[in-house]
Amino acid sequence: MTFPRPALMVAAGLLLVNAVLAPGAHAPAAAPAPTTIAATAAPTAPVQPAPAVTDSRVVRVETGDTLMGLLVDAGVAPGDAQEAITALKPVWNARDLKVGQEITLQFTAERLQELRFTPALDRDLIARRGEGGGHFGARAEQRALTRTVELATGAIHSSLFEAAHDAGVPPTVLAEMIRAFSYDVDFQREIHPDDSFEMMFERLYDEHGTAVGAGNLVYASMMLGSTRLRVYRYTPGSAGADFFNARGESVRKALLRTPVDGARLSSGFGMRFHPILGYTKMHRGVDFAVPSGTPIMAAGDGVVRDAGWHGDYGNLVVLKHNGTFETAYAHMSHVASGLHPGQRVRQGQVIGYVGATGRATGPHLHYEVRIHGEATNPMSVKMQPGQQLAGKELATFQTVADAVDHKLLALSGQTTVAAAGPHLPE
Ligand SMILES: [Zn+2]
Repeated sequence: MTFPRPALMVAAGLLLVNAVLAPGAHAPAAAPAPTTIAATAAPTAPVQPAPAVTDSRVVRVETGDTLMGLLVDAGVAPGDAQEAITALKPVWNARDLKVGQEITLQFTAERLQELRFTPALDRDLIARRGEGGGHFGARAEQRALTRTVELATGAIHSSLFEAAHDAGVPPTVLAEMIRAFSYDVDFQREIHPDDSFEMMFERLYDEHGTAVGAGNLVYASMMLGSTRLRVYRYTPGSAGADFFNARGESVRKALLRTPVDGARLSSGFGMRFHPILGYTKMHRGVDFAVPSGTPIMAAGDGVVRDAGWHGDYGNLVVLKHNGTFETAYAHMSHVASGLHPGQRVRQGQVIGYVGATGRATGPHLHYEVRIHGEATNPMSVKMQPGQQLAGKELATFQTVADAVDHKLLALSGQTTVAAAGPHLPE
């Protein structure tokens, strides 16, 4: 925890009321000038009591901090800190304290008066002492955010991550896009120079018109060689939001084609030092060149069959998905803590971390798909399409997808493309 202990904002005889508290981390630092009330007492007036000193401090959550520890370090009396935390309980879970979160504390005469922070882009939480030095009460305040839909496009020259960054795609949106395509795309072997993408996503603005963050990915397409893949966000009546192709099939399949974060892959093209091998008779799996320590995800729901050291494979995890399919993940720096044979895992669950253990020339994930125990080229494995929307649900989806296509056309005229990147080829 660090915070610069600001000089008291008050001079004798002046009462500074810091009416506007510092907004969230992404908002501009400039706040309206504090209101200044000069207590110019006439010489004949009775002696006024010294005005209470008001002081505002911003503390920032760092790894390992607890709210209690933070408050006490910032000069809050332990009893007051406990009371403020208790007051917050009905509106906030203390486990949601995030590293980097900023908390604004307001003191009067060195006693905590108010605590305020923004745990989510659209919500402020305030714990404030009652009138006359009473107990703390807490409440949540909705922030009025506006959502706009924006389009980013780009061509991939070195890596998807760089291209997306250059096109102004927020990291959370890129992560969502990669997850949506990871069932269908091998991000190591199927991305080539000049492949391109489009992403339509929400950006959130606060009441001052300042962009405060990214909302949902609404639509994404990837042009891989001559193949265009498209996904639309849609929330079926019965379930949470998901991505569907233009035919109304969910993107979810039994196995992920890319069981690591595709944004962290070194591009296959131009890489000389990573193995990035595809499936051959000699090499019975595919390699993903990702930095050491990158989380490895279970490609599908299943049961752990093996988790531990395995000679040339180094640290290895094998998952059994059903009577037919198994997947294997080799050269891990370490297996996820506690993972053991017999344990059930969910698709996307972290089962270990990329390393270079066993017979490996550098950090990478060696990934095998086995059918009835035989290693098989993952590229040749045909997965069943995901759940198909039908009837009324399909009709509703098509209306949503049509609206997205129209919006896409409208936005294409005003796309912001990275200065260095060429326009999307049609
Ligand atoms: Zn390999």
